[in-house]
Amino acid sequence: MAKDYYKTLGVEKNASQDEIKKAFRTLAHKYHPDKGGDEKKFKEASEAYQVLSDEKKRSEYDTYGSAGPGRGNGFGQGGFDSSGFQGFEGVDINDIFGDFFGGGRREQVHRGRDISVDIEISFSEAVFGVEHKVRITKTSSCDTCHGSGAKPGTKTKECAKCKGKGRTQESVRTILGTFAQERECSACHGSGKIPEEKCTACKGAGVARKEEQITIRVPAGIQNGEQVRLTGAGEAIQNGKTGDLYVRIHVAPHKVFRREGYNLVMALSVKLTDAILGAEYPIQTLDGEIKLKIPRGVSSGEVLRVREKGVPVDSKRRGDLLIKLDIKNPAKLSRTAEKLIEDLRKEGI
Ligand SMILES: [Zn+2]
Ligand SMILES: [Zn+2]
Repeated sequence: MAKDYYKTLGVEKNASQDEIKKAFRTLAHKYHPDKGGDEKKFKEASEAYQVLSDEKKRSEYDTYGSAGPGRGNGFGQGGFDSSGFQGFEGVDINDIFGDFFGGGRREQVHRGRDISVDIEISFSEAVFGVEHKVRITKTSSCDTCHGSGAKPGTKTKECAKCKGKGRTQESVRTILGTFAQERECSACHGSGKIPEEKCTACKGAGVARKEEQITIRVPAGIQNGEQVRLTGAGEAIQNGKTGDLYVRIHVAPHKVFRREGYNLVMALSVKLTDAILGAEYPIQTLDGEIKLKIPRGVSSGEVLRVREKGVPVDSKRRGDLLIKLDIKNPAKLSRTAEKLIEDLRKEGI
């Protein structure tokens, strides 16, 4: 009986090659025996994929309901022959298995380590942004050879290990058989060349540990705990990409202000008489002193808004400063004051 390869992969009859590949990749990961999956299901999916990923075999299958009489190639009734695997020419095994076989493309990128550092900045620096300098000891490109590892002025020769290709072939054994996988050459790190004479400063490593001053541009409005990434400011590696530097920002709390999104919030004590009659109070904002008009008859808990004195949203807009009023009743009264208040009470106030 003919197998329904489309059903096996869970795709439509008119599925694109991308959809087929994606479906198989999902199933392969799910059922791969190395990952404690299901060997039978894995083989079924592999068989379906071999046929459907090949336009010629797929159209035969669509026409005959199998891969065609006498054109079995190891699938069909005979079952799937994993040692004589033939179906995957032109298929990038990494594309399907990627992270499966202790390699995949991610590790092939020759890249220096990422490093991280913590800095503390003031509340106001976090609001307006700041340039912060730190000194970090890390592996950097060698000053003498600029990372090549060769003694300046000397020539390079072909790498013996990869014969100048920069890549080596490695066999990867999988349930589907053995595949040749290309890797970056470990001797020359992909450059295909080896220095004739090594740089004496770094002994050919191309990198050296040293202390460096790094300027970190902290953007305006950053929040406590946020990270800034400096691409390429991490550790260097010979013939590879430099890693990144992650800077975790700690913002010191402020005595007066706290943040609520882009707004700044503060509390303000107002005298009872000022609350009743209105007044003008000097307020120290992060931008300097302003005169705050307190309207007549305000109550405790009321919030006054000073526009555009908060945290910058972008170069044009800013949040507001919110001032929460706290009306202080006098704890002690002089005899005169008490008499005046008594008079007020008589007035019904
Ligand atoms: Zn050097
Ligand atoms: Zn090499």
